[in-house]
Amino acid sequence: MRSDVLRWSHYKGGAVNEPFIDLFRSGPVSREEFRFIMENSSENVRRHEHRHYLPIMQCLNAIHYSEIYRYRGIDLTDNDFINGKRVNFISFLNRLSIAPISDSTFQKLIISDNTTANFQAKKQNVIPLANTIRTLANNLHDLPMYSNRENDLGGMHSADKVQYDLDKEISESMKDTSENRRRRLKSTPNNPEKIQTVSTAYRRNPDVIVEVLLRANGICERCKKDAPFRRRKDETPYLEVHHIIRLADGGVDSVENALALCPNCHRELHFGSEY
Ligand SMILES: [Zn+2]
Ligand SMILES: [Zn+2]
Repeated sequence: MRSDVLRWSHYKGGAVNEPFIDLFRSGPVSREEFRFIMENSSENVRRHEHRHYLPIMQCLNAIHYSEIYRYRGIDLTDNDFINGKRVNFISFLNRLSIAPISDSTFQKLIISDNTTANFQAKKQNVIPLANTIRTLANNLHDLPMYSNRENDLGGMHSADKVQYDLDKEISESMKDTSENRRRRLKSTPNNPEKIQTVSTAYRRNPDVIVEVLLRANGICERCKKDAPFRRRKDETPYLEVHHIIRLADGGVDSVENALALCPNCHRELHFGSEY
């Protein structure tokens, strides 16, 4: 366990404080470390606040391990989040683990009628704690990504970081002149370096995929056009099964949360300007 945890013995309880924050700044917190922290915390934390700290840890760890780089640095407007359903402390943390929450969104949130009682400005129950966590989480979202994580991979690269780096380099290249690009192309070897990557995948349920494909019956469930071609291996219409709420965002692998889409619609949902 990290030596940081040792400092925890000085922790005197109350709201989330500096050692807790420092710990998360330096990386994800393991179960063992969390247990150590709780065992060495004040009676008050152990008895009353433990139920808050566990989801907080999960939220902050999720940021450290996040594959969801596409939202980073973007201030989501969040109207759907605020207006969509009742917001409680847990759904707040779930949302925070995906992307930063701005001051204005937070203000809107705590005066919204959609929040549960303890999450309303007039009740004040978990608002100060939520705001401290939000500040910390927003900072974590802003950290140079994967710095801790890459160290954990023993020299391997995370697949999403490789993609992220390439996206950044493409943006840089776009800003440059054609002349410069062509000059570089002449002098750069065209046999790319091979690297090994680590990525997170979900073991999806084959029954869900088959049921959704049968439901679609060869017709894209979004644009209602025929599948563009048939599969070489078995002549079935080629459609792709997409999750409406992504598994990475907590969606479930069910027939109801899935759509059979043509490749165009599928790409548009993931990469199009509106979603
Ligand atoms: Zn389509
Ligand atoms: Zn998809």
